[in-house]
Amino acid sequence: MPQKDALFHAAAVLRTALLGHATEAFFARRLMGPAPTNGAVIENILCHGNHLEIVFDDGIVMHSQLRRKGSWHLYRIGEKWHERRSKADIVIELSDSFAVCFGALSIETFRQFDQHRHPRAGRSGPDISRDGADLQECVNRMIHYDNPDATISETLLDQRVMRGVGNVFRCEILWACGVHPWARITDLPQSSLLDIVRTAASQVRANLNSSARVVAPHISGGLAVYARNGHRCLRCGDIITLDNSSADKRPVYWCSGCQIAGEPFRELDQSEPIAKLMDPHPAAVLFMTDFFRNREAPVGL
Ligand SMILES: [Zn+2]
Repeated sequence: MPQKDALFHAAAVLRTALLGHATEAFFARRLMGPAPTNGAVIENILCHGNHLEIVFDDGIVMHSQLRRKGSWHLYRIGEKWHERRSKADIVIELSDSFAVCFGALSIETFRQFDQHRHPRAGRSGPDISRDGADLQECVNRMIHYDNPDATISETLLDQRVMRGVGNVFRCEILWACGVHPWARITDLPQSSLLDIVRTAASQVRANLNSSARVVAPHISGGLAVYARNGHRCLRCGDIITLDNSSADKRPVYWCSGCQIAGEPFRELDQSEPIAKLMDPHPAAVLFMTDFFRNREAPVGL
């Protein structure tokens, strides 16, 4: 990972130069998620380990994780860059300078809740990457979520519920807990929500200071489902699928064989074989529920 002090220092430099300034152009290689709009003002820059987050005032948060030799730089107009522009992973152009990142491991964006536009909906949730974060508060925010039809996938990325979960972790958390990505939060028992939040905190904290995300150390790549579409599930042997129908337009990797908790009701499709439409046997559901509950306990509340 990059030197923590170096990134902390770079974040301080970027903060001084960028806060309150409008973005004139934005480029991110292999960006996952929506780009900030041209003219969006940079509101905040946060640094955690080898992660750097930039918050734009149009509600977009860009989360970047750096490789071991990754780095952020600030260049004035006309100043020589220390590497070729074609090697830059992120370029944020302002009227008089460029914020540039080389060596990004991943770049994701998501929409942050805007409390100024929706003053009754509450403020940002706890940052689960921090020791001592109030995990029960995250559960409470799910229980009282303003949209009862929202799926667990949506709420995991909602900054009003908790902060710190990106799309990679979203997929891995739901697989680890055996939860269907389109389960409605109102269909999940409180014990499942608590299990999900605890697992989220455990995974995010375990990866805070590593250059690669690892939640399944025993497999190549360290991830159980993310980007493993077409491979067999490590738990049940079914084929992992990629679904792009998420409301936030970000890819969801999951296993339909064992992520069954909270599976939403489907309208009967007469063209499907009747055997596929049957509910799983109650004993099988009970077995899977106990299986996930009895996993090694992740970080506690
Ligand atoms: Zn599976």
